Amino acid sequence: MRIGLMGGTFDPVHLGHLVIAEEARHEFALDRVIWLPAGDPPHKHREVTFQEHRYAMVVLATASHASFDVSRLELERAGPSYAIDTILHFRRQHPEQELFFITGADAILEILTWRRHAEVVQECRFLAVTRPGYDLARLQTVLPESYLERIHLISAPGVDISSTALRERLRNGEPVRYLLPETVESYIRKHGLYTDEMEPGGTAVGDPR
Ligand code: ATP
Ligand code: MG
Repeated sequence: MRIGLMGGTFDPVHLGHLVIAEEARHEFALDRVIWLPAGDPPHKHREVTFQEHRYAMVVLATASHASFDVSRLELERAGPSYAIDTILHFRRQHPEQELFFITGADAILEILTWRRHAEVVQECRFLAVTRPGYDLARLQTVLPESYLERIHLISAPGVDISSTALRERLRNGEPVRYLLPETVESYIRKHGLYTDEMEPGGTAVGDPR
């Protein structure tokens, strides 16, 4: 089995995420892509949306894809979500599987800031996918050869969307249609996410939590 791990904050999930996961799955003949919404992401300094909302949106976005699954691993784990813990978990559970961690260009360019990054690249190969606005070629100058050997580059159709831009659009009442799945947009509207009605911590007013 060849497994892709698709980590992210997914606040909210959008077409950019779906396109890189699908391109990586196709290019590397992955049997499954496991989506891993982060619990308490170490790299984010802002308040992220309540994790159950982010999880639900990823489930909605991926539900129709036969090879996509969503894991609650990082949500159930106490403390910050580090890739190394997730990778070692899958290594231990399924030693026979080949693991590929899928990232966009911006994320892989920052790998030297990841916790225990040397172990991370030793335990798992990386599929680094192009992202508009980030130059994957810079990897050559940023990373040592031993890291580059473990990283495979994939060129995907450019989708210039970020969760940050989507949150901004929603806050300003601008359209997000065609930038994320319809089911995810409906979920966002139902729960009043990313508007002024949302309380700090991401619980929308009227949320029955
Ligand atoms: P934010 O703006 O909040 O950082 P984001 O759009 O970057 O959100 P993340 O959840 O931070 O989304 O990203 C998860 C993974 O998906 C990362 O590896 C990131 O590089 C990748 N990714 C996100 N958006 C794109 C995109 N439009 N094209 C290619 N890769 C992307
Ligand atoms: Mg990001």
